[in-house]
Amino acid sequence: MCGIVAYLGNKQALPLILSGLRKLEYRGYDSAGVALMFDNEIVVRKTAGKVSDLEALLGSNGYDKDANIGFGHTRWATHGEPNDTNAHPVFDDNNEIVVIHNGIIENYKVLKTRLEREGYQFRTDTDTECLVHLIRSHYKNVMDFETAVRLALAEVDGTYGMCVLSKFEPDKIIAARRGSPLVLGVGEDEYIIASDATAIIPHTRQVLYLLDGEMVIVTRNKFEIKTIHDEKIERELEVITFDLEEIEKGGYEHFMLKEINEQPDSITNTMRGRIIKDNGLVKLGGLINVTEKLKYAPRIIISACGTAWHAGLVGEYMIEQMCKIPVEVEYASEFRYRNPVLYPNDIMFVISQSGETADTLAALKEAKSRGADVYGIVNVVGSTIARETHAGVYTHAGPEIGVASTKAFTSQLTGLALISLMIAQYRNSLPHDEIKKITDELLRIPDKIKQILALNDQILEIARIFKFCQHMLYLGRGYNFPVALEGALKLKEISYIHAEGYPAAEMKHGPIALIDQNMPVIFIAPKDSTYEKIISNIREVKARKGVVITITDFDSDGPSEEYSDYIIKIPHTLEMLSPILTTIPLQMFAYHLAVLRGCNVDQPRNLAKSVTVE
Ligand code: GLU
Repeated sequence: MCGIVAYLGNKQALPLILSGLRKLEYRGYDSAGVALMFDNEIVVRKTAGKVSDLEALLGSNGYDKDANIGFGHTRWATHGEPNDTNAHPVFDDNNEIVVIHNGIIENYKVLKTRLEREGYQFRTDTDTECLVHLIRSHYKNVMDFETAVRLALAEVDGTYGMCVLSKFEPDKIIAARRGSPLVLGVGEDEYIIASDATAIIPHTRQVLYLLDGEMVIVTRNKFEIKTIHDEKIERELEVITFDLEEIEKGGYEHFMLKEINEQPDSITNTMRGRIIKDNGLVKLGGLINVTEKLKYAPRIIISACGTAWHAGLVGEYMIEQMCKIPVEVEYASEFRYRNPVLYPNDIMFVISQSGETADTLAALKEAKSRGADVYGIVNVVGSTIARETHAGVYTHAGPEIGVASTKAFTSQLTGLALISLMIAQYRNSLPHDEIKKITDELLRIPDKIKQILALNDQILEIARIFKFCQHMLYLGRGYNFPVALEGALKLKEISYIHAEGYPAAEMKHGPIALIDQNMPVIFIAPKDSTYEKIISNIREVKARKGVVITITDFDSDGPSEEYSDYIIKIPHTLEMLSPILTTIPLQMFAYHLAVLRGCNVDQPRNLAKSVTVE
């Protein structure tokens, strides 16, 4: 995810682009850059850091004097560290064509190898750079900017919202979209193209939202919308009526709600390019160089904090089941002070959304100092943990702004499923058809999440009933025991209701004493291998007058209906993937309860998004 702003009109482009980029920084702020079209030269200035760093770099050099065509980018790195070089805009070899891009080019490796063979020199580590060389290579043959862009896009797999400028046709900006948003703003003698309307509204409220597979060609006083296959599109302009803050939050009331609703997309992004279409096997580029180590690892240790630690617990179940390697999950803050025993070939995975979590970083350093290989599962590209680890997998969930983690968690679970499957492939611990069955089901998960999100009203109604409760118990078994912990944590974090998660069978060893009509109990009970057992636990609670809310599958039968006061039915999936689904109604429940109680959902008291102190 990143922010794009392009301008073509009569005003000075730079101040307008910079103010647009500032509005889009919520989409990413790893680096920022601009390209400006002067008489016969494109000037690019870019730097790691925020838009304010770009402004400092530009200083008072007068770049804003004459250019009234140009564009800018604020990056959320997916490929290549967030440094100066990898910042966008990205030039071709001769500095004659320049591109900004939001998204992931899935087949960039294949394209890069081919283009390098043809003599194009790559100066960045981004996937984006192959776009600009591709355009250049086609331009050489067709000598027409628009055709060259179209031919280049036809070769690209993956997602893009992209803009391109060329010295050969200097009065023109071409933008195209597939999977990443782009909006065209049409003002008086001016056009603004941006990732969302926040950057456009100060200038005009007349917009046109590009659809997937469409491109816009903007020249002086004229714009044309076409498909990337050169078919003309006629569409009326729309007039925006909503305000800026609403747009940043995608029309949602809170970032947390937006991020909950983004999960079909964020999970798709975690899987993007990693499941081989033809055979259903998994390929994780970030772990390719350590396959032998993974194959023969005698033990895997997963270390993390908070929500990521819960993901690690699910990972333990997945890896042990699919790869038959013993796994231990450690709180990072405990591991580092415990004088841990590590065997020479032990492998540690550390999980962190921000990649800056101080305790997790310290655990990783501790393990490294004892000779272990440490691999990361991290969302923020180029973060400290990503740099300190020997290898790893990015979750590509996009920026998470709500303090209570939602989409980062389900992307961590998805990443762990992919890692487990890849190790299982190397170790031959799962037959190929079993792996394919799981990856096929993984690809269905985003649609199943959409079905869960559609239960919003039902979940809101249940939340209303429990608005004033003081305590809650979350119970699950097997794969859904960590989900019980995560559900309870979500509730504590944002609604300040005391909640505990327990393995359902442990209830009778203590917490059962708490149960009465004032103690709601949430059971996570999909129809899996533990279903019959958990039904018995539900009966035990009902027998003690507890109030029961059950999360179960559409196709589960009688008992839970009979013994539950409230039932939330979600689509069925494979047992090992069920945490990705069962978590979501719990996120929605916590969210609604917190809002009903008037809590600050996006910035709960006493918490910080990434805990960079020990
Ligand atoms: N994949 C591109 C990169 O890593 C674009 C990322 C973005 O959307 O900001 O540079």
